[in-house]
Amino acid sequence: MTDDQPDFSAYQPATIAARGHYGWCGDTGAIIPPIHVSTTFARDATYERVGPGGYTRDDNPTYLAAERTIAALEGGMAARLFASGMAAIAAVFQALAPGDRVVVSKDQYFGTPKWLREWAMRWGLSVDFVDSASTDALARAVAAAPTRLVFVETPANPTWAVTDIAAAAAIARQAGATLVVDNTAATPVLTRPIALGADLVVHSATKYLNGHSDALVGAVVTARDDALWERIGQVRYLAGPVPGPMEAWLLLRGMRTLHLRVERACHNAMAIARHFERHPGVAEVCYPGLDGFPGHAVAARQMRGGFGGMLSLRIRPRRGESAIDAAVGVARRVRLITRATSLGGVETLIEHRKTVEGDDSDVPADLLRLSVGIEAVEDLIDDLEQALETL
Ligand SMILES: *Cc1c(COP(=O)(O)O)cnc(C)c1O
Repeated sequence: MTDDQPDFSAYQPATIAARGHYGWCGDTGAIIPPIHVSTTFARDATYERVGPGGYTRDDNPTYLAAERTIAALEGGMAARLFASGMAAIAAVFQALAPGDRVVVSKDQYFGTPKWLREWAMRWGLSVDFVDSASTDALARAVAAAPTRLVFVETPANPTWAVTDIAAAAAIARQAGATLVVDNTAATPVLTRPIALGADLVVHSATKYLNGHSDALVGAVVTARDDALWERIGQVRYLAGPVPGPMEAWLLLRGMRTLHLRVERACHNAMAIARHFERHPGVAEVCYPGLDGFPGHAVAARQMRGGFGGMLSLRIRPRRGESAIDAAVGVARRVRLITRATSLGGVETLIEHRKTVEGDDSDVPADLLRLSVGIEAVEDLIDDLEQALETL
């Protein structure tokens, strides 16, 4: 028997994703990796480990193909899976020391600032929020005091404000700080932050990487093997925020179609953005792909092949109608598009973020977030048209 398995280091990211960084099983010839449900792994008579791991809180063989795939897609040295996107993000901050100062994008997935305020700051992390879409504001914030880490999301939930990753990397580098990019919305298909100078990339792999809204998983990718990466690994194996083997396997299965799904979602989102850009019922379309969008030029530089599947519509209230009633009214009237939180699946979802985030959120009350799926775009446009009651 010859072991002529493909050498995935030689191939393009799209090829690695389609094949799940896996050739076939040497024992059975199966071309799909097994799900290793075992929590513990044997040692031989000389007390050496038979396989790579000893216990599933440290590692599980089912994680490996998914981790190698994500690391390859991001152009990183290695990746680790976590129980969720938030577990991955929390692990990065937990790897720091009390008293460390971090500078974080003000506009981003609301769970990150919420966790920082309610947990990290109480554990002694010093956190400053900044509008990172302004490179000047970011530079000033980082220069204001010694900074250990800079954390940005781009395009950022739910306004899709764009942060210039290369500029943020230069600012972080000059300050001796680590740059972390939440690449959930852009995906490595469109943006590769490590190539632009980021040190770490985090994902809610629950979203586009899995792509089927059926597994909660997170990932951290590192550019290099250093003390911080070591410490992030310790957070995982000491505290145990690991995914189940089934989730890791579903993630790997979902990633096989990542490039096709993202390509189609980009196409659909652009068509929706253009269709509603000058619609009388829509005050503004927030989408980095539109020429008039403030972050468009930076997005065009750092996103390749599309501007993503996420966009927001700001609904123009009719005479006498409040902004919130106008937006919620549209969300109530959709028939095909589903009212639900989350993003990055094959189905189109709509959400009134202000209702979900609560009164202290500064998300505009007229804003509806759309996670554009892979349906026929005409059906999506028709559904939004009838929901805007202008059909
Ligand atoms: C959903 C999301 C998270 C959190 O991920 P979970 O898997 O839900 O824990 C973090 N960042 C972004 C950008 C997200 O969309």
